Amino acid sequence: MQIRCYKCQMPIALGRDVVAEALALVKKENLAHYDVRCPKCRTTNRVSKKQLSRIAPRTKTDKKE
Ligand SMILES: [Zn+2]
Repeated sequence: MQIRCYKCQMPIALGRDVVAEALALVKKENLAHYDVRCPKCRTTNRVSKKQLSRIAPRTKTDKKE
């Protein structure tokens, strides 16, 4: 998955492992977003839970949807 920093437009690549971890975290903490920090300008970009679950590899804990 790749997102783009909304401030400086820097493309930020998120590996599958990162996405899987992010999704696990938002589920565990019941968050609506996962914060991804831009490596260039350090702006926090929010990735919604919906976005994460759409691209994350399926796991056995993903019985919903
Ligand atoms: Zn940035």
